[in-house]
Amino acid sequence: MQYKAVKGFKDILPYQMGTWNRIESEAKRIFELFGFNEIRIPVLETAELFARGIGQDTDIVSKEMYTLEDRKGNFLAMRPEATASVMRAYIEHKLYNVSPLQKLFTIGPMFRYERPQKGRRRQFHQINVEIIGDQGPRSDSELIFMIMYFFSSLGLNDLVLNINSLGCLNCRGPFRAELKSYLGRHFEQLCPDCQKRMETNPLRVFDCKVETCNQILKDAPSILDFLCSDCARHFDSIRSYLEELQVDFVVNSHLMRGLDYYTRTTFEVQTKEMGAQNAVAGGGRYDNLMKEFGGPDSPAIGFAIGVERVVELLEENDVQKEEGPDIFLAPLGKEAEDKAFIWLQELRKRGLKCEMEYKSLGLKAQMRHADRLKARKVLIVGDNELIKGKGIVRDMISKEQTEIPLDNVVDELIGVFNR
Ligand SMILES: [Zn+2]
Ligand SMILES: [Zn+2]
Repeated sequence: MQYKAVKGFKDILPYQMGTWNRIESEAKRIFELFGFNEIRIPVLETAELFARGIGQDTDIVSKEMYTLEDRKGNFLAMRPEATASVMRAYIEHKLYNVSPLQKLFTIGPMFRYERPQKGRRRQFHQINVEIIGDQGPRSDSELIFMIMYFFSSLGLNDLVLNINSLGCLNCRGPFRAELKSYLGRHFEQLCPDCQKRMETNPLRVFDCKVETCNQILKDAPSILDFLCSDCARHFDSIRSYLEELQVDFVVNSHLMRGLDYYTRTTFEVQTKEMGAQNAVAGGGRYDNLMKEFGGPDSPAIGFAIGVERVVELLEENDVQKEEGPDIFLAPLGKEAEDKAFIWLQELRKRGLKCEMEYKSLGLKAQMRHADRLKARKVLIVGDNELIKGKGIVRDMISKEQTEIPLDNVVDELIGVFNR
């Protein structure tokens, strides 16, 4: 019997972790510059939280959620997204008493029971960011600026930012009515799903992937023509801030992002390749969600980055960098090995990344290993070197060899790297 990982669940292997860590540490570094604090939320929540937050009739809740009953009969769900949990934590711990403005981020796995395919897994990872307690448009612009800065700092400059405004509830009513009557005129050509959506939630039609539906939507009324003056002003400000910050964007009035809770701003960062999997990150404003959850009337905006997609992009663009050890110790003979083993630990404590074999090997085999690890330098110490009191430091790139005194060899080596 050989065990395998569950379908749609993937191991992230040691040689892939460099890219993952780079993404996460860059996110933490940048978010901190922008005044965000990390929050960690549990993987399990009551299923009700997501039904309420994301919407009962969304695919995420109705088809894709991993739910389970615990031994007491509580109905739980593995989180399909993070925003609802962050809202819950904000209310439960009264974070608004600490400060009404909370800038939060969280990094971790999410779970959706989808058909596994390229770029889509049942356990996937997101970096989530939320600003709670501000109406914008400065918080909107800052958040969008930050996400684009994050991508460019990873070397991903070839992404397209789409932005839209869904208006407030006041502007959405008339738009919904107009859209419904437009869709009614094309009812026969709509796919069966969209025919249903037209009645229950016509905005959802914009999420449809069926080509004929997309064709019909090309001439559909635009939400942007229905914005009330407050919403229009809000959206105008964001556009002018982004222009001044030299962030390129495309206004895309079809960008609805499929969740019930969005109000006003939505945005998505996409790759230039076509297809449904081209979104790398997306988000929007959800001014009414907190109230909906029984919390204070705190407007909020957030986004999620799909970490797997970013990993793929970095691997495609080959902008990953694997750092080898600073120095590889290559002792020959038991006496040298025992000495080197102690130096090895001292050097690590002093901050040098270094490696050595556990078992005794010849020089050739050790050099091969040093090469495979991409070590920058190798220290060679055999019986001769011990007698002379001088080791050999070989630079693995220039192949140059120099001698180094063995008393105080740890300080000497640290010196070599600080030169
Ligand atoms: Zn409005
Ligand atoms: Zn459709």
